[in-house]
Parts: sequence; C-alpha cells; structure tokens
Amino acid sequence: MLKIHNLHAEVEGEKILKGVNLEINPGEVHAIMGPNGSGKSTLASVVAGNEEYEVTEGEILFDKSNISELSADERAHKGIFLSFQYPVEIPGVSVTNFIKTAINQIRKAQGLKDMPANEMLKKIREKSAMLGMDRKFLSRSLNESFSGGEKKRNEIFQMAMLEPQLAILDETDSGLDIDALKIVADGVNKLRTKDNATLVITHYQRLLDYIVPDVVHVLVDGKIIKSGDKELAKKLEKRGYDWLKEEQLV
Ligand code: ADP
Ligand code: MG
Ligand code: MG
Repeated sequence: MLKIHNLHAEVEGEKILKGVNLEINPGEVHAIMGPNGSGKSTLASVVAGNEEYEVTEGEILFDKSNISELSADERAHKGIFLSFQYPVEIPGVSVTNFIKTAINQIRKAQGLKDMPANEMLKKIREKSAMLGMDRKFLSRSLNESFSGGEKKRNEIFQMAMLEPQLAILDETDSGLDIDALKIVADGVNKLRTKDNATLVITHYQRLLDYIVPDVVHVLVDGKIIKSGDKELAKKLEKRGYDWLKEEQLV
C-alpha cells in the first residue's frame, strides 16, 4: 500500500530525513519509535503532503502510484489520514457537523454528491457506538474545552468516519495520560481491517502494550536504523536507544 524509497527531506535548508525506506501492506499496523528530534513528525508530514517540507530525493508510492507531487488535499482524497491535520479547535462547530463537512468535501472532490442525511446519521450512530462514545460528545463544539482524552476521542472518531486506507497517528503530546492512550489504542484495534493500514508514531512504549504492531521501526537521525516485532519496542523501553546507535557502528 505504502512504499517509501530512499526519502530525503529538508525544512528551511536543514536535512531532516536522510534516506528513509518503509513498506506497509494492507492489514498491517506499524509503529515508528525514536528519540525526540529524530524526524518522526517530519516523516508523517511529508507522507501527508505538508508543503513546509521539501523532498529532495526519493519517492513515496501509494497504491503503486507516485504521490510525491500531490497536494495534502489530493493525498487525503486518496485515503491518507493524518491525525492532527484536522483542526481540533473550532468554536461553534460541533463534532458531527465538522465531520459531515469533511466527508462531503472529500466526496465532492471525488465527483460524488453529498452523502444523504439518513445515511450520514446511520454512519455516525454506528461508528460512535463502535467506539463507545457518549451521544452528548457528538454535539459538543470543537473548541478549546476538550481535554487531552477528548481530543484523542475526536481524532479517532474522525478516522472511523473517514475510513482512510492509511491512517497516520502522530502521538506528539507528552501530556497524554493512560486513558487517552487507551482511547487511541482501542480505536486503532477496532478500526483495523484486512484492507487498511495504520502507522502509529510514538515515543511511548506503553501505547504498544495496547496496540500490537506487526512491525516496529526505530528512526534515529532521519533514518530507520532497525525494524523488528513488538519485542523491539520492549527492548527499547528497557535499554533506550544508545545500544542501537552503537550496534550501527560495528
Ligand atoms: P520528532 O517528531 O522525531 O521529535 P521532528 O520531525 O519534529 O522530530 O523534528 C526533527 C528535526 O527537524 C528537529 O531538529 C526539528 O527542530 C526540525 N524541524 C521539524 N519541523 C520543522 C519546521 N517546521 N521548521 C524548522 N525545523 C523543523
Ligand atoms: Mg518532537
Ligand atoms: Mg514528533
């Protein structure tokens, strides 16, 4: 589904990604871990098409076509979802109205008519029930009164409604408590199908106690220096990243 080949990217003339290779198949959950500043969020932004970052070498294939030149919107329409791409603070717009607009915008770009209201309602009911969401939450305004856990719930709800082929979740907020992590993990597990894929970026090993990734990658200084199974994440928690850097030198 996603194939990244020798990706180099820079921001403001500074090289951040220095030759990333990554391949994700349908049905898989991959995790990217790595020290702060190693380029994890940059990788997420570059895959999603954020124009702040300049790709200087390499390519990104999605469903076998090169998407490197597409805009962020075009990539979203192809089914790539990046969690923080969708604003979480819009006073006066409810959780449901926001997602209705987002879905209909994507349909419009695909040449489809608006989703009929009854179909939309059915989908909202189905997905919110699946995620165990409180009805009251759906009518709340997307504003600054959301707690960390509620922001996560909203993101997972957006993901459930948009049904992306590839979801990228960048867990950047160091203030997240265990309940918020569980909301994310529970959502990822429930929304997992044999056709979609998820890339979870985190520096919390704890998150991976709840989401069992098929593959764990370690990104250090703009490169994936090791990939393995979930045991690799446990080893990182115990031993940190330095042993890997040393392993690279021998
Ligand atoms: P991580 O998510 O692994 O903590 P980032 O991708 O956020 O790492 O950052 C990698 C490096 O790129 C850091 O040195 C950071 O300062 C720099 N960087 C990232 N985004 C920008 C930006 N928009 N402008 C300037 N520097 C950036
Ligand atoms: Mg960071
Ligand atoms: Mg980051």
